Amino acid sequence: MASERKPARVATGWPGVGAALATRLAKLDIRGPDDLRLHLPLRYEDETRLTAIADAREGEAVQVEGEVVSSEVVLRPRRQLVARIRDDSGTLTARWLHFYPAQQKQLEPGRRLRLFGEVRGGFFGDEMIHPRVRPVAAGEALPTSLTPIYPTTAGVAQSALRKLIARALEGLADEEYLPQAVLVELALPTFTEALRTLHRPPPEIDPAALESRTHPAWRRIKFEELLVQQLSLRRAYNARRTRNAPVLPARGHLSGALLASLPFGLTGAQQRTVAEIAADLAAAHPMQRLLQGDVGAGKTVVAALAMMQAAENGYQAALMAPTEILAEQHYLKLQAWLAPLGIEIAWLSGSRGKRERSAALARLGSGEVLLAVGTHALIEDPVALPRLALAVVDEQHRFGVRQRLALRDKASGGSHPHMLMMSATPIPRTLAMTHYADLDVSVLDELPPGRTPVVTRLVSEARRDDVVARIRDACVGGRQAYWVCPLIEESEALQLQTAQDTFETLSASLPGLRIGLVHGRLKSAEKSQVMAEFAAGRLDLLVATTVIEVGVDVPNASLMVIEHAERFGLAQLHQLRGRVGRGTAESACVLIYAHPLSETARARLKVIYEHADGFVIAREDLRIRGPGEFVGARQSGVPMLRYADLEQDGELIAPARALAERMLAHAPERTDRLMSRWLAGRLGLLRA
Ligand code: ADP
Ligand code: MG
Repeated sequence: MASERKPARVATGWPGVGAALATRLAKLDIRGPDDLRLHLPLRYEDETRLTAIADAREGEAVQVEGEVVSSEVVLRPRRQLVARIRDDSGTLTARWLHFYPAQQKQLEPGRRLRLFGEVRGGFFGDEMIHPRVRPVAAGEALPTSLTPIYPTTAGVAQSALRKLIARALEGLADEEYLPQAVLVELALPTFTEALRTLHRPPPEIDPAALESRTHPAWRRIKFEELLVQQLSLRRAYNARRTRNAPVLPARGHLSGALLASLPFGLTGAQQRTVAEIAADLAAAHPMQRLLQGDVGAGKTVVAALAMMQAAENGYQAALMAPTEILAEQHYLKLQAWLAPLGIEIAWLSGSRGKRERSAALARLGSGEVLLAVGTHALIEDPVALPRLALAVVDEQHRFGVRQRLALRDKASGGSHPHMLMMSATPIPRTLAMTHYADLDVSVLDELPPGRTPVVTRLVSEARRDDVVARIRDACVGGRQAYWVCPLIEESEALQLQTAQDTFETLSASLPGLRIGLVHGRLKSAEKSQVMAEFAAGRLDLLVATTVIEVGVDVPNASLMVIEHAERFGLAQLHQLRGRVGRGTAESACVLIYAHPLSETARARLKVIYEHADGFVIAREDLRIRGPGEFVGARQSGVPMLRYADLEQDGELIAPARALAERMLAHAPERTDRLMSRWLAGRLGLLRA
């Protein structure tokens, strides 16, 4: 498992490895014999057989053995070392464009050599470029296992690494930490057997199973890796349960009042989630809960009810959102709900006037105001939330660990606040199990009633005018629309220019419509002005950059146009489409695309066209992109997987999780030893 940390400048060695070598090995994440043993081959070469030179086929990697007939350094077309090798069947040319004097010596005529490399047809007959060479005595035995090729780095030669690993394997004690019954059930070899097989596969092994990493030896290693990941996440989870948090029993007078004043009743999923959170808040250890719900599932009201539970107990609650537009919208919505109940909310954003800001800060600092809503401004220095008992982070994947921890640390005294993380980026089950095993998860798997499904259309850029005409008709008919400008990731300046240009051309072609423009560079006051106008129905069309991507909630808007949709990621398209279909009007999302479409862009558009369910889209996204990128945003010390593949090895996750629970409960010592085999000295670095 690779954890996210910079290689140490100077590493200390261990028996047989000096400091200089240790420093170079550290670049490979190798810090001791255990790491060497778990440094597994990328692939193998078969040196257990010899091929006659005459039988070597072009493009094939083979090993030949013969005598050097001649060798010389030639200067044309460039300086190179050229040797002719002969066996009973024919001759072959070997060529090196980079070489050392020692190599020249090795190639003296009459020497007997084994060459391993790919044969190519050259101008002067068959040749090998940069073959691997080994001098041998006549009749010397061939190796009995495949030759491993390890991932390596500058300054650590393949052959040196191979020796180090071989030595580490010799010192491998036969320590099996997994119960025999599990090995039998999953048909896995022991750890020692698996390592021996992977580092030195016998020649008769199924090469396909080795290459696809489906061989039982590979599965054993991957299972153990998944197990260790589960163990470390569950340990972190358990450790948190030993900390103190304010006990917030559900008293119900404020949450009940809020519920009664809502213009709607909660869905079944919302009720279940609210109950799960309420129970967590009443416990004496900090809640760590992820609330997942597709775009529009109604997470905000769930958060508001949790915040009421803190306030009912005289404690503070804070809600942090990643964009100013979203934070302000939350503030306005909460205020509309809570002002009639006489509950005050402090609103903190980077852009508020100094005086208003310091007044808000003073009242939060004294504990007089219990609720705070804001952007990152909430975690800035002068903000004090002495009675903070609940921290809610909306669109949590937009924040780094550090920021989430900073919010947590706003509470004073020895106790930790309860944390509620919300995300509309649904995570496929396998990913959730591996990456959120340290959290409790609530899922809003039901949309509020009365939503009409959004119709998605794919339209080529050539028909942009038709789309503009459609917008005119819709807006004249009283509907509201978004027009999302093309994403230009390389340049913010260009992005702004494009938004401005789009706004101008649309204004010119749609006279009579009230059109607004919102982008990231607008001053906050201007931004909220535009959003307020749109929300109030005083604008028909809102031209926007992706600042409206998350959270924005204007139920009357029913048409979404996304230009150059092929440039957007799947999660982004899903989020943007989720801005419409929030009211009762029939809604549509028009994706304008331009040619040429890359294969992945085509695949993404197909997925978004065919599917509306966020979980299905996330699964497809995972398939298209791979998990690495997918969870990149988590940026935490969660040990990432080096060998296990969530798609291929998904079926190992549930057993790994079950075994982790059992080991933590019944075999703490074995758990320690197993974890240190994989994580050695880095356990402390893994997570806060
Ligand atoms: P998200 O989960 O994407 O954050 P929101 O909390 O913004 O969703 O809710 C989307 C819209 O649905 C809001 O206008 C909200 O007031 C409304 N809403 C939430 N719950 C319900 C419900 N149970 N019935 C009807 N409308 C609801
Ligand atoms: Mg939301």
